[in-house]
Amino acid sequence: MRISIVGGGYVGLVSATCFADLGHSVILIDIDEDKVEAINCGMSPIYERGLMELLSAHVGRNLLATTGYEDLVSTDLTLICVGTPPLPDGSADLSMIESASTLIGNSLEDKEKYHVVAVKSTVSPGTTQNLVMPTVLKHSDKSASKIGFVMNPEFLREGLAVQDFMKPDRIVIGSSDELAGDTVESAYRGIDAPIVRTGLIAAEMIKYASNAFLATKISFSNEIGNVCKKLGIDVYEVMKGVGLDHRITPYFLNAGVGFGGSCFQKDVSALIHFAERMEVTPVLLRSVIEVNEQQPMKIVEILLKNIEYINGKRVAVLGLAFKNDTDDVRESRAVPVIKELVGRGALVAAYDPKANESMREILPEIEYCKSASQALTDADACLVLTEWPEFGDLDKEFELMRSRVIIEGRRILSCKDAEGICW
Ligand code: NAD
Repeated sequence: MRISIVGGGYVGLVSATCFADLGHSVILIDIDEDKVEAINCGMSPIYERGLMELLSAHVGRNLLATTGYEDLVSTDLTLICVGTPPLPDGSADLSMIESASTLIGNSLEDKEKYHVVAVKSTVSPGTTQNLVMPTVLKHSDKSASKIGFVMNPEFLREGLAVQDFMKPDRIVIGSSDELAGDTVESAYRGIDAPIVRTGLIAAEMIKYASNAFLATKISFSNEIGNVCKKLGIDVYEVMKGVGLDHRITPYFLNAGVGFGGSCFQKDVSALIHFAERMEVTPVLLRSVIEVNEQQPMKIVEILLKNIEYINGKRVAVLGLAFKNDTDDVRESRAVPVIKELVGRGALVAAYDPKANESMREILPEIEYCKSASQALTDADACLVLTEWPEFGDLDKEFELMRSRVIIEGRRILSCKDAEGICW
């Protein structure tokens, strides 16, 4: 099958590379010239395990990146993977979806054969039917019998994106008509996973509800963790006992400094906004966000209990990415923690194995170190904010500190004297 993918970020690039690996001929369209150039040279603009290898195996063969929409007409299926960032009121900004739909419509104007447009971006319920469909049909000057529409949400986890694409828990295909859904289903041939066929709006809601539920599990564990900390008991022991219940499962029960990443905060906020518009009061979802906003300050409180005045003190921050195995710092809990430290006059020495450069764009004022040892040298305190496995091996490096105050916001260290945020 010939597939065009619009938007070459985390979702678009991973999908393009993996569809190429499944044997399809793929055109990846992105408006960012530098990104397109890098991809065509076999360089991945993002760090994602296994992606570079797959990319260089297919680029120039059955995968090509371009800034133009001209070649889209020669494909059978177009997947929209552009961003849907939050607006100030929490709702999803659908302007990139709209402009991509306009450009896709224009490109399909002269096409005679049936074409399918599928939305992979996370969009609020009703967007595919009420925005994408009319925009594409208007600009292509076609009737709905000539273009089929699908909502095919993506569930990949950054850091494990290639693996999640190739071995998903499920593939959700919401479609406007049977043929459109069949076309998308056949693009996934070769992947062994349950297929959920549904309507457009249900598919959009499945994605929002999934992310909201995962975020709820984390905020729930953090709240239980805050109580456990007061009780002097280990929340990880508690959650192990909880997670063995097959109705609950052990996943996403790790208490810590809160969830980050491009999706949870934005998608829960968008769902809150959407519910309010539908005149439903999202009591639980609002609390999920509130717990997550308070959690980073807990680690600062613990630090202040150990060092009363942090003005002028060197604080090593280990871990900047929102999770390990990625260089993505979007909504990372390290951002509010570092801002609070800087606001209180601390000298932050930060280190992340992958995310120093992406964090430098957001917080240029702090020191970035080449290693954990460099950050720890002469530090008055250390905060661990990402669960990078290499932090689990730190031992003698802590002896480089001026005073040994070690606090972890993620359970990863092996030294015995670190204090946990909720343990
Ligand atoms: P991203 O910001 O990394 O990438 C979006 C890309 O689209 C950018 O490269 C941008 O240049 C490009 N773009 C914007 N407008 C364009 C246009 N008109 N034509 C062509 N390209 C255009 O975003 P992402 O993280 O890949 O997320 C994309 C969508 O997928 C979002 O809705 C997100 O919520 C959803 N999603 C993301 C993840 C994730 O882990 N990142 C997981 C599941 C779903």
